[in-house]
Amino acid sequence: MEKIGFIGLGIMGKPMATHLVKAGYPVFVLSSSANAAALMKEGAVLMNNSKELAGNADIIITMLPDSPEVESVLFKDGLEHSMIPGSLFIDMSTIAPATSIAIFNTLQQKGIGSLDAPVSGGQTGAEAATLSIMVGGSETAFKRALPVFEKMGKNIVHIGKPGSGQITKACNQIVVGLTIQAIAEALTLAKKSGVDIAKVRAALLGGFAQSKILDLHGQRIIDRNFKPGFKIKLHRKDMKIALQTGREVSVPLPGTVVVASQMDAIIAKGDGDLDHSALALYLESVSGL
Ligand code: NAD
Repeated sequence: MEKIGFIGLGIMGKPMATHLVKAGYPVFVLSSSANAAALMKEGAVLMNNSKELAGNADIIITMLPDSPEVESVLFKDGLEHSMIPGSLFIDMSTIAPATSIAIFNTLQQKGIGSLDAPVSGGQTGAEAATLSIMVGGSETAFKRALPVFEKMGKNIVHIGKPGSGQITKACNQIVVGLTIQAIAEALTLAKKSGVDIAKVRAALLGGFAQSKILDLHGQRIIDRNFKPGFKIKLHRKDMKIALQTGREVSVPLPGTVVVASQMDAIIAKGDGDLDHSALALYLESVSGL
């Protein structure tokens, strides 16, 4: 089995890496965080530094917050120089498509393959190994990575050229963000009108308005459970990626602009680490609730 270096053991990375260890892959980690310690109990091996990790791994997977962190790990911490020619770099974080393309081009010159493979499905999908994985890069690299992806996800789609996985993820985040907005608006209207929002959710779930987001995030809003999940500051980062991509190809994204500015208001208030379903809090506060 291919030896895997996994960097970024947060809300998503920890369960994803755990599935790989449990499937029998040799998995190497860098951090000495609590999450890494839990993973080591399952059988992952701690490396002293990036050089050691890269020297031992056939495949390196990153699951980091944003483009600067992925670039830092690759180009500042020296991973790029330590990866073995013929190895494969897979970034599963959500980052700018342009960064994914630049990484692909840089690593290609060194004989190292590269895939952008962001995911959707959230913490529950990561824990259940049912993530949707959207992949940009060569067919050969995709085929090599597929058995690894199958341990973490269910709906695995090779979209096309480098960067196209990230474009797909930007589309995903527009749909998710605007759907949360719709549900938050609807439940705020119901609440201010004195109608039981749990019953509104139950009624809507049986009709044309039903969605996974109404199901999961509607319940979060009812329960006032805004523990992440997916931090609103990370979703704001994804809206920035979508808006930047829109500008590059001259597609206005008016709904995305509105939702992004409401996320800004929540972050400015100091609530950026809440789950993205906390969009409802903004609407409630401007509605006098
Ligand atoms: P997180 O903040 O929980 O985890 C990020 C991890 O990266 C942390 O463990 C942090 O210590 C580590 N890290 C940060 N900088 C680092 C560096 N320079 N070197 C090594 N490690 C570093 O975030 P998350 O929710 O797991 O999200 C990770 C990525 O997945 C993000 O791009 C996010 O947009 C995307 N994503 C998240 C979800 C979700 O529901 N949480 C769903 C789909 C995609």
